[in-house]
Amino acid sequence: MPAELLIHQLSRLYTMAPDADGLGEVADASVAFSDGQLVYVGPASGAPDAMEVIDGRGLIGMPGLVDCHTHAVWAGSRADEFAQRLAGARYSDILEAGGGILSTVRHTRAADAATLTASARGRLAGMRRRGVTTVEIKSGYGLTPNSEARILRAARAASDIIRVVPTFLGAHTVPTEYRGDRAAYVRQVIEQQLPLCAPLAACIDVYCDRGAFTVEESVAILSAGKAAGLKVKAHAEQVAYTGIAAAAAELGAVSVEHLERLDAAGVAALAAHGTVAVLLPGAQLYLKDSAPPVAALREAGVPMAVATDLNPGSSPVHDLWTAATLACILQGMTIAEAALGITRHAGMALGRVDLGWLGTGSVADLALFAPPPGEPPTISSLIQHMGGSRAVLVIQDGRRIYEPGVDSLDR
Ligand SMILES: [Zn+2]
Repeated sequence: MPAELLIHQLSRLYTMAPDADGLGEVADASVAFSDGQLVYVGPASGAPDAMEVIDGRGLIGMPGLVDCHTHAVWAGSRADEFAQRLAGARYSDILEAGGGILSTVRHTRAADAATLTASARGRLAGMRRRGVTTVEIKSGYGLTPNSEARILRAARAASDIIRVVPTFLGAHTVPTEYRGDRAAYVRQVIEQQLPLCAPLAACIDVYCDRGAFTVEESVAILSAGKAAGLKVKAHAEQVAYTGIAAAAAELGAVSVEHLERLDAAGVAALAAHGTVAVLLPGAQLYLKDSAPPVAALREAGVPMAVATDLNPGSSPVHDLWTAATLACILQGMTIAEAALGITRHAGMALGRVDLGWLGTGSVADLALFAPPPGEPPTISSLIQHMGGSRAVLVIQDGRRIYEPGVDSLDR
């Protein structure tokens, strides 16, 4: 029986498969699909017959990209605040005036489900245009049981655009009305938000930092989430060192994220527990922060992922390729590390070993890219040229979800 669809003679394919050498690079490669499944990945010479054939010459094939850390459901805009900060205002002053995350919480609480879903779908459509087929979306701008659940429902409703992995982040910040009684808010997260949100989410996350939640509060919340069947993640060691990265790793966290202030003991804990380090160079750039210890993570063999951290304040970054480029320039990743960071390692950061690679046991997600004009069709071209390449076909679960097609100028 012929395959349904054959992408034939790609100039370069990177399978990112766990058992491949390096990035699983194959020149003159083909990929075939039938019934929503991958049925062939390999050299064009061995490709099956197919009912429909797409010419891949001049193009680069990658597994569908995975953006493993975003806050893509929110309402309101903080563009004015950005302008104020450029003019010299401090974030603490903006917060005091009810801006910053507090303004996003206010607008998100006031938005109805349809509004939240519509804006999230628009953001996910933008990601899809860049070859992303899986996005993790955190709640955390509601901070009440009903509004946190509404955000997770909006995230799930947007999964008609690309695959969504929802994460419950009720412990994103202490809401204004609980500033005098943090313990009561932690209890609300565990006793009221979690029972409502756990059935809507795959993972639980906390923002453990100076000015946010303590290690003790974070461990209590993450432990409750884990007991409710959620995978554990944590915003860790970003503004101040707290020790949460090691504590979360010991709890069995799939990932810890940010890590600008991760220390040697933290690196060792991640290595010992197989926890993925998720690096967020967009936040580093916007906050003019220092880099996480990439060399030490590499040395210890910790898998590293890269994500946009898309949010309306500290990382309004929509393009995962840009995040990969910034991870190389600002954080010292190699091209190969950044490429794995937006594919298979990003899948691992979601506890999903089927995401971000192509082969037996993977999802059937493929993205095709035209390199920047005049550049060779390689991953180095895609990462070196910020915004210079474009997706020309995106396939999720064996089905075409985005296809602007190849311009004759692309080849
Ligand atoms: Zn974040």
